[in-house]
Amino acid sequence: MPRSVVVVGSANADLVLEVGRRPAAGETVLGSDVVTTPGGKGANQAAAAGRAGADATLVGCVGTDASGDLLVGSLEGAGVRTDALRRVDAPTGTAVIVVTPDGENAIIVAPGANRQVTPALVADLADVWRGATVVVLQLEIPLETVAHVASAASAAGARVVVNLAPAADVAPEVLAAADPLVVNESEAAFLLGTTPGALATDLDAAIADLLARGPRSVVVTLGAAGAWVAERDGRPQHVPALACTAVDTTGAGDGFVGAMAARLAAGDSLADAARVGARFAGLAVQRKGAQASYPTPEELHAPRR
Ligand code: ATP
Repeated sequence: MPRSVVVVGSANADLVLEVGRRPAAGETVLGSDVVTTPGGKGANQAAAAGRAGADATLVGCVGTDASGDLLVGSLEGAGVRTDALRRVDAPTGTAVIVVTPDGENAIIVAPGANRQVTPALVADLADVWRGATVVVLQLEIPLETVAHVASAASAAGARVVVNLAPAADVAPEVLAAADPLVVNESEAAFLLGTTPGALATDLDAAIADLLARGPRSVVVTLGAAGAWVAERDGRPQHVPALACTAVDTTGAGDGFVGAMAARLAAGDSLADAARVGARFAGLAVQRKGAQASYPTPEELHAPRR
């Protein structure tokens, strides 16, 4: 029985601390207590897919430390299968997230165990992901692993969702396998070699340029302005964001991607799947944390407010 959504990607402990302002070079500032929450783009997307109802699996690596336990617990709580999440002899990936009162995050990621998500490791786990209905990739693991999985999964008939985050140069076969390629404004600008401002002035042209890079479809997310969805042979469609008051957007993009992947695996059109992604992310931004903010299936499917 093929798995429905397999995410190949990162898992991190997010160490969040609030400060009045970011320290300048050579300066010390006092911050809040550190709050440790489960994060990492791969783990977030797998948790979102699980909460949105998919039979979700995360292929990745965490350490044998307490952060690894935290991630396994959070993923299993979201219904994610962890049989392909290896416990390795390295510290679990860690993101230090400094939050300032303006709501901006400054983030440092120590990849740790995520570095061990190598082509050899995923080749060993090919039975898990090769025959999946939807395979989801992002760029917090070695890029040669992303290229290997994108090509092999696509060739095996899986639908490959590529989230180009954090922005990086990827092999052309990664873009060619993407259906959709998911980018936020700054990732789209990075790929096109332009600025977010320039991109926003002619979004139709930017979407056409993104499609010209090879993906079969594109989703451009724009925070509170929602998202645009485009397939090669159709007109771009706008997917509005949920009207709400955001308290913390950490993990919003990942929630969108994971929930969308769950609905794609269930057979929804790209636009319908993106609408569920937007609702999922809109519910998540109303609470603090990444995975900790994700809605339950009941909340996701509750009558529209
Ligand atoms: P992040 O890095 O914060 O996780 P991102 O930059 O990858 O997110 P965004 O475009 O900011 O991605 O957000 C993804 C989706 O989340 C949006 O398309 C939207 O549906 C939802 N979203 C984000 N911010 C808000 C908000 N303030 N109100 C409602 N929905 C939001």
